[in-house]
Amino acid sequence: MSGVLQNKRGLVMGVANERSIAWGIAKACHEAGAELAFTYQGNVFGRRLDPLAHSVGSDFTVDVDVTDDASLDIAFEALAKKWPTIDFLVHAIAFSDKSELNGRFLDTTRANFKHSLDVSTYSFIEVARRAHPLMVERGGTLLTLTYQGSMRVVPNYNVMGVAKAALEAATRYLANDLGPDGIRVNAISPGPVKTLAGAVIGGARKTYKYADQNAPLRSNASLEAIGGTAVYLISDAGAFTTGELIRVDGGFHVLGMPQIENL
Ligand code: NAP
Repeated sequence: MSGVLQNKRGLVMGVANERSIAWGIAKACHEAGAELAFTYQGNVFGRRLDPLAHSVGSDFTVDVDVTDDASLDIAFEALAKKWPTIDFLVHAIAFSDKSELNGRFLDTTRANFKHSLDVSTYSFIEVARRAHPLMVERGGTLLTLTYQGSMRVVPNYNVMGVAKAALEAATRYLANDLGPDGIRVNAISPGPVKTLAGAVIGGARKTYKYADQNAPLRSNASLEAIGGTAVYLISDAGAFTTGELIRVDGGFHVLGMPQIENL
């Protein structure tokens, strides 16, 4: 897909390290010719991000906590100074208290419910509103990351399932609001990926192995595969896809039961 994102510029939010889904997307976008800017959260992650950003020719990294409006203001002002328009934004951000990603959903606390949905769901609306003026001239694409725990019960995913269900609904509403300005809004739903955020969900290793062994393609998706889907959605090849959820899970979602050989 070399060159399909030539002359496109985008902001990638959520690279914690080289295993992050956002990093897989950033690399694929870079290989397709895009110019990139990044956000990170906190100085430790900033130091980790810098060499990665440099490796894809980016010198723009800015500290953003999506629950802090002031940090979002500073980041989007700086971005608008660098680039008067952007073509895409990748939102790959989620958080929930680790202690509630284990055990019963019934025990979800009000505080963690609010915080999980603030970081993992509301932030997409907030960044979409801030990206809108930078996209309104030429159109653009907003992408977020979701997981099938939104529609089906995945043990220990708990409140994140509710956050992702709301995120998927938000994707459809944002697509409808922003469509008249030529801005498309889509969600990618990968199967399990070994990342920092993925690792804190109780039983993550078993969930990963189960999906890997039972998916029709008998493999979980690589970062490259997720990145390729993002490039397609951002590129002109995806020009008439909006409000959509695209699964990149080796077909796992079609199963009614595990493969016979694994029973
Ligand atoms: P990751 O590498 O840990 O990335 C998660 C990112 O969210 C990190 O960069 C983290 O920053 C950031 N973040 C958390 N709270 C934040 C806040 N308040 N403000 C700004 N950034 C914040 O994990 P990942 O698996 O790639 O996650 C990316 C997205 O993919 C998430 O939406 C996740 O739910 C989704 N997803 C993951 C899987 C999977 O199996 N891993 C499957 C489907 C979908 P810090 O590290 O600095 O906190």
